[in-house]
Amino acid sequence: MIFIELSNRQRKIIEIVQENEPITSKQIAKHLSVTRATLRPDLSILTMIGFLDARPKVGYFYSGESNINIFAQKVKGIKVENIMSLPIIVTEKTSVYDGIVTLFLEDVGTIFVVSEGSLVGVVSRKDFLKGTMGGIDVNKVPIGMIMTRSPNIVTVSPEDNVLQAAMKIIDHEVDSLPVVLEEKDGEQEVTKILGRISKSNITKLFVELCKD
Ligand code: ADP
Repeated sequence: MIFIELSNRQRKIIEIVQENEPITSKQIAKHLSVTRATLRPDLSILTMIGFLDARPKVGYFYSGESNINIFAQKVKGIKVENIMSLPIIVTEKTSVYDGIVTLFLEDVGTIFVVSEGSLVGVVSRKDFLKGTMGGIDVNKVPIGMIMTRSPNIVTVSPEDNVLQAAMKIIDHEVDSLPVVLEEKDGEQEVTKILGRISKSNITKLFVELCKD
């Protein structure tokens, strides 16, 4: 759902149009006891953002819902694989110190951890902070000791849509998700990491869609 801050008068105009469509600006002005000139900026804004549709010589129609649905449909039509970033991956045996250096060098907030090519953990800024505040020897302790482990990792598939990914990020209160593919390697199930989708990817997409 999109939240747009509307003024009281704009909300009232929408109600009037919903109840009386098609309705001319003169009739709307009469309902509100104001002049048409006063209403003009509100009507332009409501038409521009898609709440109202103006048809010459007929009047205003309500079209807000359908426009918001178009936005939702657009987001649902974009797959995670279309906007994901490169994953930053280390092995379980990497030291906490090297993990922190990787975090800075790669400019990310979350690192994924693999063992024998399969996702086994996730480490974020808070995990590093907790670990160092707990007084561990960052050069000796492996990242495997401080990471969030599988099966507690929330993942998405490359075929999932962006709305599904965004909902998982919100529901699980995390900053990013590994994009994975479950594969069979002989008898073994392997969780292969293909990418990373984060709050930043989704915010960038949001800005691009709004610019469109
Ligand atoms: P930050 O530490 O920067 O606030 P998060 O909010 O993403 O980042 O991480 C909070 C906690 O959630 C950490 O313990 C981290 O290991 C864990 N976490 C992060 N991403 C995931 C994920 N995709 N699945 C499960 N746990 C995660």
